[in-house]
Amino acid sequence: MLLCTVRDCHLPLVREARRVVCERGHSFDVARSGYMNLLQPQERRSKNPGDTPAAVAARRRLHDRGITAPLLNGIEAMLKASAEDVVLDAGCGDGFYLGSLAERCGFDAHGIDISIPAIDAAARRYPQCEWIVGNADRFLPYEDASFTRVMSITARRNAPEFKRVLKPGGLLLIAIPSPNDLIELRGSGRDRQERTIQEFPEGFELLEQSRVETTAELDAAGMDDVLHAIYRPMRAEPVAAGNVTFSLDLLLFQA
Ligand SMILES: [Zn+2]
Repeated sequence: MLLCTVRDCHLPLVREARRVVCERGHSFDVARSGYMNLLQPQERRSKNPGDTPAAVAARRRLHDRGITAPLLNGIEAMLKASAEDVVLDAGCGDGFYLGSLAERCGFDAHGIDISIPAIDAAARRYPQCEWIVGNADRFLPYEDASFTRVMSITARRNAPEFKRVLKPGGLLLIAIPSPNDLIELRGSGRDRQERTIQEFPEGFELLEQSRVETTAELDAAGMDDVLHAIYRPMRAEPVAAGNVTFSLDLLLFQA
């Protein structure tokens, strides 16, 4: 199901013991933690693209406190996935949403993200899922019609590629920060729903829209994790405890 990411190649990759290889001999190693790095050197915007280890660790601690459980539950309710589904999370970060849902629903789970530290953490935490380092903005390294569900949780979106890898009738779940997300820290945000819907003009039908929201009372360490997770590590003054709202607008499309 995986495709070679060498430009203009895109042949199927065959799994060997410690690597995957295409017919033209392009090969990619399987990391010790089990993920595959399919990122091409020219696709790296920087030497270490994507989330940093500090941001990945901060997000994981927030997930482990259970703060994001209401968001996970809302996504689960909208995705309506079962053990028969094959699910892709494009821009999956540390794999919390995909890995947790795969544990609950038993589906065949595939995650891709450009950050090596994020995918390495995902592979260690959720070894039952397949984890790929790659540039999902450019090319999703999967055969056409591979998935019954695709999700994009506060990640960049690639409408033509989502369409290509979804089976006809498959579902696409998009989560975007709502105007209330982190409102205590950055004030009221923009409502991105209409603009996001406009990104999927052809081949997608909007089925459902909903908002999931939770407010957590965080101690100073928790607050510090939130700031690291959003790349706003501390200013001069010490971090104070406080309330933080996490809020997502969910859009469900059918291909
Ligand atoms: Zn190739």
